[in-house]
Amino acid sequence: MTDTIDSFAALKLPSALLSALTDVGYETPSPIQAACIPVLLAGNDLLGEAQTGTGKTAAFALPVLARLNLALKKPQALVLAPTRELAIQVAEAFQKYAKHMPGFHVLPVYGGQSMVIQLRALSRGAHVIVGTPGRVMDHLERKSLNLDALQTLILDEADEMLRMGFIDDVEWILGNTPATRQTALFSATMPEPIRRITKRYQRDPQQIKIKAATATVSTIRQRYWQVRGADKLDALTRMLEVEEDFDAAIIFVRTKLATVDLAEKLEARGMEAAALNGDMTQGLREQVIERLKNGSLDIVVATDVAARGIDVPRVSHVINYDVPYDTEAYIHRIGRTGRAGRAGSAILFVAPREMRMLKAIEGATRQKIEPISLPTAGEVAERRVAQFQEQILEVLGN
Ligand code: ADP
Ligand code: MG
Repeated sequence: MTDTIDSFAALKLPSALLSALTDVGYETPSPIQAACIPVLLAGNDLLGEAQTGTGKTAAFALPVLARLNLALKKPQALVLAPTRELAIQVAEAFQKYAKHMPGFHVLPVYGGQSMVIQLRALSRGAHVIVGTPGRVMDHLERKSLNLDALQTLILDEADEMLRMGFIDDVEWILGNTPATRQTALFSATMPEPIRRITKRYQRDPQQIKIKAATATVSTIRQRYWQVRGADKLDALTRMLEVEEDFDAAIIFVRTKLATVDLAEKLEARGMEAAALNGDMTQGLREQVIERLKNGSLDIVVATDVAARGIDVPRVSHVINYDVPYDTEAYIHRIGRTGRAGRAGSAILFVAPREMRMLKAIEGATRQKIEPISLPTAGEVAERRVAQFQEQILEVLGN
């Protein structure tokens, strides 16, 4: 059990999955994957405690795929996720890992999408359903979703579903699916209501806990700037100009209003920026993420809730423009960069009176955060000249 598992093949996954993993470039299973996959393959219940960015999606998607009966076109697995964005992301991951499983169907269902489309898709049949709790409950009540053949139920980001007020819906779904099902629950934290659910609805779950600091932040360079002498907006634009290896950034602020305000100011300064907050319609939020992915947008100014779980590999920088409320929020925030094994950078703006938060974060991540100073006007000018020269050389080269 404690043997170190250093390959997906050692986890006895079917060859169709192994070749998909080779295609996506995963070399070794992450710690939570190595720990969870055998338990789920064996059909046992599981309680997984791990931070974002530890690779939870593959930890449950791979064993679910391995256990599917493709000939039976009925939902055999249901994944509940807190938001539409996460549901879509998880469904996309299933699709990716099932690349060499012809005939496989995964269907995301969430509020805000047309019922007509969803009903039609459901009637065509799918092996895996990924949905938000409210909409899944809706379909179960209407009997448009039949879970008689359900083998596995996954609760992804259970603490977030709790925070968003979905806990009753989740319990209702747990009470209205075959009691013989396997249940896996993943959560970054284990507040009491989540513990209660696992006691009531899980059978002797194997507990797997992955420590916060390890996987999450190791590839991310963390720095802070003590806010003084210049205003934050000015500091931000200067920093963005001189940062090396800059591709795209997510900037965190505390309020919805501030997302719009800062995004507008950055746009006025010539940057491709947009806001992302909980007041925007799901469709708009999705558009913003899509534009960030395809490069028509470089900067997204977001609140914690709106940005949670975003997985866009080109995000090279996370800027904590306003300090997070707690260390956990910080870890979630910076986990938006350094995705898929890439390098990432996190910069925290702290006012002198917020230095206690900095110490708390260093304690929680068990890593030092380096101080940086504001680039001088001279450095910014130098960098502009250098960039201009690069551009000219490029043009000449062509
Ligand atoms: P979590 O759900 O724990 O926040 P994800 O499942 O979203 O984490 O995975 C985070 C990122 O790591 C994704 O970009 C995913 O493709 C990548 N990833 C997951 N497992 C591996 C692995 N074994 N090797 C390399 N990259 C991985
Ligand atoms: Mg996840």
